[in-house]
Amino acid sequence: MGLRIDRLATLYIVDPLRRASSSGNASVPILMYHSIADEDEGGVHPYYRTATAPSVFAAQMESLHQAGFSVIGLAEAIRRSTAPEAAKNSVVITFDDGFRNFYSNAFPVLNRYGFTATMFLPTAHIGESHLKFKEKECLSWAEVKELHRHGISFGSHTVTHPQLHDCDAHSIQKEITGSKHTIEQELGCAVQSFSYPYAFPEVDASFKRNLREQLRQAGYENGVCTTVGRPGPSSDPFFLKRLPVNSDDDLQLFRAKLAGSYDWLAKPQYLAKMAKNWVNAGAHQ
Ligand SMILES: [Zn+2]
Repeated sequence: MGLRIDRLATLYIVDPLRRASSSGNASVPILMYHSIADEDEGGVHPYYRTATAPSVFAAQMESLHQAGFSVIGLAEAIRRSTAPEAAKNSVVITFDDGFRNFYSNAFPVLNRYGFTATMFLPTAHIGESHLKFKEKECLSWAEVKELHRHGISFGSHTVTHPQLHDCDAHSIQKEITGSKHTIEQELGCAVQSFSYPYAFPEVDASFKRNLREQLRQAGYENGVCTTVGRPGPSSDPFFLKRLPVNSDDDLQLFRAKLAGSYDWLAKPQYLAKMAKNWVNAGAHQ
């Protein structure tokens, strides 16, 4: 098992300091899930794992219910982020990749507590039958429609799930408008939210500026990315930070993440991306 420096620092350094200082900014945490299934990710460091066992997911949802959390959508989270009292005990639950195990393993649990969630679909992998993505079955449109009737929101995760940072402007346009139109045609309602696939190139300011403008012009109102942390009042509404969750999040770590004790990871994550950028820039000279 890999050394969980992120876990140790979160629980034994940052969490006690945060409790002692008690200075809470208005922030609605956004949880990021992918696959809800018993998967063997033994070869992957816990920080990078993306599967959450159904039993772990159920325990996490029960803990939100018992702590009196209200589960809200992204637009409401952005509104509440300007008011500390309204933001308190609010949370957003998101899922990327459109895996079918959401239907079988996550939705029944969410439904038990009356929780809503937003699922981000890579639309090329959603069909009349169960297509596959990353070797896992995805939702069918019939299931997407049924979930939508039961209060689940759907957002775009592009068409083919590329790293948009490597795409030209025309391809980016096709990815963000094509997926939006497909979901809107299937569900008959507007798609407001976008989720950036793979690592978000947060250090590239001009890329972010251009993408934000393209998303706005396409009619999106908000979005999320893979940068770790909780959004605040000054966050960019198109690239809201999230808290990654997986099977290794026991309830102690899960609660500490919700309370903001995992937000420190945004800094080393940012520095690592800057360093990678410099290395790549050097290699291209
Ligand atoms: Zn994804």
